[in-house]
Amino acid sequence: MAVLVLGDQLNLDHGPVANADRVVMMEARAFARRRAYHPHKLTLVFAAMRQFRDQLRERGTTVDYYGCETFAEGFDTHFERRPGDELVVMEPPTYGATDRLRELVHERGGHLNVVDNALFISSRSEWEQAFGDREPPYRHEEFYRVMRRETGFLMTDGDPVGGEWNYDEENRQFPGEAYEPPEPPRFEPDKTTREVAAWVRSLSGSYDTDPPGPGWADPEPFFWPVTREEAVEALEKFVDARLAEFGPYQDAMLADEWALNHALLSSALNIGLLHPREVIEAVITAARERPDTPLNSVEGFVRQVLGWREFMRHVYRKGMPQLASANQLGADRELPELYWTGDTDMACLSDVVDGVRQRGYSHHIERLMILSNFALLYGVEPDQLNEWFHAGYVDAYHWVTTPNVVEMGSFGAGLFATKPYAASANYVNRMSDYCSGCDYYHTKDSGEGACPFNSLYWDFLARNEERLRDNHRMGLVYSHLDDKRGEELDAIRERASEVRRLAEDGDL
Ligand code: FAD
Repeated sequence: MAVLVLGDQLNLDHGPVANADRVVMMEARAFARRRAYHPHKLTLVFAAMRQFRDQLRERGTTVDYYGCETFAEGFDTHFERRPGDELVVMEPPTYGATDRLRELVHERGGHLNVVDNALFISSRSEWEQAFGDREPPYRHEEFYRVMRRETGFLMTDGDPVGGEWNYDEENRQFPGEAYEPPEPPRFEPDKTTREVAAWVRSLSGSYDTDPPGPGWADPEPFFWPVTREEAVEALEKFVDARLAEFGPYQDAMLADEWALNHALLSSALNIGLLHPREVIEAVITAARERPDTPLNSVEGFVRQVLGWREFMRHVYRKGMPQLASANQLGADRELPELYWTGDTDMACLSDVVDGVRQRGYSHHIERLMILSNFALLYGVEPDQLNEWFHAGYVDAYHWVTTPNVVEMGSFGAGLFATKPYAASANYVNRMSDYCSGCDYYHTKDSGEGACPFNSLYWDFLARNEERLRDNHRMGLVYSHLDDKRGEELDAIRERASEVRRLAEDGDL
């Protein structure tokens, strides 16, 4: 029997691979051309797979490693070599992937045993504990508390450490002008990674996508961790240098600082180089050793990994296949070209898109309150935005991108979001330093030079009034909209139409 290791299961210590004598891996290259993936994403996955193969071999494990166009082709070769082989695989989180693997293996006379995916902390049972067979909306906070109780993380005698479950209120600070966050770690690519990066560069122009990708010309040199050792170093550097201020500045956005105090660990977590449990344990242990580490930073981080990350995986499991195309607001506009080019005078959008082009990353608030917020207000079809995120980010996989983009970012399905994350320039100005250096006026709602976020925001509320007005969490904003009715709202909506025209013409 051999273990089939997929490209997002690169962990030596968890799951059946831990005791495997023989492993099968497939580098299915057609995958790379199926979407306009960011070059860093492709380099990350293929380099990490080759590094993992080499580590397995060093450990004495036999690895059948197939460079192939598709899984079908890889399995053809494998079962010709080893007829009737018996394989075991951890359940992939992507919808439909297990069935597809089974079919491919069975068609070729092999056997496939699917076991639980050991690279998550939770199983269905924690979800059932939180929600039973209740209908949505599912509240993250309920799931998170079950997870805290079940794991004992940040608990004393059955109660949350510090007396509160959640310190989010303390995590909305904006750093002073003199603030200098620590340098993010960068990992120098070795020969294996450089070879993969060169192959990825050679793909340019041969994508099967429409429009032809990648829209990500000239990123900065690749620096993401691709081995277990590098991922552990990235974790240690986060814990040592950035954890203490992770909480307070979690929601802040600075034009010249792409990483701030964020962990930058999602790319490693999502391919298995780090286990979410060890990441949480490292943070809690560090906080114990350095008691001045603020609890709001520690709890804030634990909530992201133990709460949100695990929650999203189950939301996806429960919501698919409908979730992928969910669109309860009926948004039907095309994603503006500026998401690929970064070509806009809006300082915030231009900087964040540029960061994605450079390194396949932007932090959570930039994803939610700049990129998704703009698309939500503009009326972009959620599926199109999901495709863009999926293509552009080093940490993007369908199971995690889809609930974040379609539900959290686009208010697509009503599975857990109780209201849309919609905000005007007021929010952007409060939480960033973008507006002071922008050509648009963040205080103006209509007329020339008015920040697009403002007119689109009020237009969004007016456009979706029937759907959103009765939402008790939206009462206040609708009372503000009522104050604008008449000439003021007409002018705002006219500006919103103009903003859309400008975006369509590439002139925003
Ligand atoms: P930090 O901000 O330092 O957070 C620590 C860790 O918490 C992350 O590494 C991640 O593992 C976990 N985490 C936090 N929030 C979430 C969340 N909402 N969902 C899942 N995990 C979370 N995350 C992805 O891993 N892949 C995606 O494709 C992805 N797409 C997103 C799209 C949108 C529109 C939004 C709003 C969020 C998305 N996220 C995604 C969640 C989150 O933004 C990223 O996990 C985070 O920015 C990764 O950077 P970091 O490691 O520096 O995280």
